[in-house]
Amino acid sequence: MDLIQLAGKNIVVMGVANERSIAWGVAKRLMEVGANVIFTYRKERSKGKIEKLLADYSDHKTAVAECDVNSDESIAKAFEEIGTKFGTIHGIVHSVAFAHAEDLKNRFVETTREGYAFAQDTSAYSLVAVSKAAKPYLAEDASIVTMSYLGAERVLDGYNVMGVAKAALEAAMRYLAADLGSDGIRVNAISAGAIRTLAAKGVPSFNQILHKVEETAPLKRNTNQEEVADMTMVMLSRLSRGVTGETIYVDSGYNIMG
Ligand code: NAD
Repeated sequence: MDLIQLAGKNIVVMGVANERSIAWGVAKRLMEVGANVIFTYRKERSKGKIEKLLADYSDHKTAVAECDVNSDESIAKAFEEIGTKFGTIHGIVHSVAFAHAEDLKNRFVETTREGYAFAQDTSAYSLVAVSKAAKPYLAEDASIVTMSYLGAERVLDGYNVMGVAKAALEAAMRYLAADLGSDGIRVNAISAGAIRTLAAKGVPSFNQILHKVEETAPLKRNTNQEEVADMTMVMLSRLSRGVTGETIYVDSGYNIMG
């Protein structure tokens, strides 16, 4: 029995920069179950990487569209393009975040107005902007999933302005879930454990975090791209049809420890 029922569904995956990206882990799983994956990218370099990665998946229905989440115009253009080509969107994976490197390195008190706004705009408001632009094309039972991190609720060394942005992202996720629930649309976040990706390179204390998780987490190990991808599949699929507005941890249980 196919419990996932994502074959033939149109899922937008935002945030593949390379093969290590959490979003790529999700995209692979989606293609494995026969979903149509529409990738969005910001930089031409990412587009090239996505096209290379897709060489092994040439028998799958995929598309690639430019979408810079800092620009309403770019978001509108991307979703018009996707909507026109695919008609209905059944799911969105929002796996996008960015902050200035100095705002992660400096003392938090040094955060600039511009750096704060930029992190919020890219990493939190983008979920609202994307949901708004996608809304005309969203299926009645569509699912939107965003990626968060424990720094949203705890002070983690070197996460700084990004922790504040993730707190806003999780709150925005809940407000979107409340607002879009009457349309049948679900919105959830996955709080992933630390995984070595391009974005993680910007976090100065990343290696210490990995060690601490190994020592402290109930499962005594770090989580990986596949585990986050599998939970994302659940959250995109009908298996989670009774769940909205939640932050689901995929972190070897680290968040429950004192
Ligand atoms: P990644 O660097 O592979 O992905 C981040 C993506 O965001 C990149 O593809 C980048 O191009 C995209 N992006 C940044 N600014 C953008 C913009 N203006 N417009 C469009 N795209 C933009 O790293 P990742 O670790 O896979 O990160 C994906 C998500 O997972 C992020 O939200 C991150 O905060 C979150 N997350 C990561 C970890 C971790 O340890 N790696 C843990 C928890 C949550």
